[in-house]
Amino acid sequence: MSQIFERLVPYLEKHMALQTALALLDWDDATLAPKEAGEYTAKVIGILSQEDFVCLMNPQVKKILEELETDKTMDSTEQAIFRKVRKQFRKNEAIPKEEKRAYAELKARSQKAWEEAKKEQDFSIFAPYLEKMIAYGKKFAAYGASDGQEGYDVLLDDYEEAFPVEVLDSFFEKLKKEIIPLLRKIQQQPPIDDSFLYLEYDVEKQKEFNRFLAEYVGFDWNRGVMAESAHPFTTSWHNHDVRITTHYYKNQLASAIFSTIHESGHAIYEQGIEDCYTQTVLGEGASCGIHESQSRFMENIIGRSRAFWIPIYKKLVETFPEQLGEVSLDQFVAAINRVKADEIRTEADELTYCLHIMVRYEIEKMMINEEVSAEELPKIWNEKYQEYLGVTPENDAVGILQDVHWSMGDIGYFPSYALGNAFAAQIYARMKKEMDVEAELSAGNIGAIRDFLHRTVHRYGALKEAREILLDATGEEFNPDYFIEYLKEKYQKIYGIS
Ligand code: ZN
Repeated sequence: MSQIFERLVPYLEKHMALQTALALLDWDDATLAPKEAGEYTAKVIGILSQEDFVCLMNPQVKKILEELETDKTMDSTEQAIFRKVRKQFRKNEAIPKEEKRAYAELKARSQKAWEEAKKEQDFSIFAPYLEKMIAYGKKFAAYGASDGQEGYDVLLDDYEEAFPVEVLDSFFEKLKKEIIPLLRKIQQQPPIDDSFLYLEYDVEKQKEFNRFLAEYVGFDWNRGVMAESAHPFTTSWHNHDVRITTHYYKNQLASAIFSTIHESGHAIYEQGIEDCYTQTVLGEGASCGIHESQSRFMENIIGRSRAFWIPIYKKLVETFPEQLGEVSLDQFVAAINRVKADEIRTEADELTYCLHIMVRYEIEKMMINEEVSAEELPKIWNEKYQEYLGVTPENDAVGILQDVHWSMGDIGYFPSYALGNAFAAQIYARMKKEMDVEAELSAGNIGAIRDFLHRTVHRYGALKEAREILLDATGEEFNPDYFIEYLKEKYQKIYGIS
């Protein structure tokens, strides 16, 4: 180990311990903690977060990072850790302390205003806060800019390195050109009958089936826990302790099934990271987009394919004979792939999901790179929904107020969801060259698919950046054509159109 790097280790260890404690409190808050604990837990979180912040943001760490700039004795893992910590340090250092405090307070108030506005279906309650959030976004973009970067690109870089506006513009242009016409054709077809997915399904039986499903796709119970929460999510402290949640609805069979497969996709990634990165800053996913590529790969490409259900559909029917006894495998597969352009992103199907992201991307770009007032945004939002999805939200609560992200200052996060889908399709195209994916799935052999993902993506944790992972895994730079081809082929077949 580099001697200079060795001096950094105690700070990193303390940071890891505090992060673990914070994640544990978050998990508890979302799953088991009683309602009245919230406020008190928030105080503990506040104190620990502050402690965590100064643990890395101090003159001693700064000095070590400066010395490491010219250190030639670090190995590749140490270099990757150094680069990650340095990036975080620079971003944090660039923002003056007073502004950071004011921003934290604004964030708390902004989230409350958003909740209120959503409840009242009244955007004007949230508008002044969004206006301030945008102003901060612009300011932080100016502070955080590295050479040649500006505006929205700086914010995008926080979530996904090396995928600036230039790359995203061409990605979304392609989607616009190819997917919107396909959606229009589908909208002219008679809708697929999926009514049997909305009968009454006993929740205890759903739980049993979902536990089976998580294990079937590869969730390791010795390294993971599954619980329930209002909104499904995955959290992880390291590769030996990964937690997922799901949410059961009595009248919706598919919701929990695909949440479970989605979160299991995230979890399998985390559980598959090599032990040499455990409890280091590299012991997590490479980026938001790569993480989302793994969950969506499992959920959509694998979990919504006919081949996936061949070996296990019988078990589902046996669990719910009254509801599914008369439903054939083909009817079931068609139903779980029904396209329904709707106003809500989180309920979107695979085909239209990226169009929801496109609306947000274009508006974020406008907010940061152009002059636009918050009041104008609901109108712009609704017009874009009409243009791309062919629907106009009934009110702002199901329109511009539907997502929490902007109220939390997360501007630049949305595109990584869309990138995740496109990364997944590119990885899938490569995988198909190496194996007969359908045959493996039909034979119930998901292990072969998981091994490919483990070998090319999971094991590296955050050692490599997203772009590098994609290049090494597929032999190619990011190419959105794979995603468009995948969608066209799949949905033209399902709807019998060309
Ligand atoms: Zn996800």
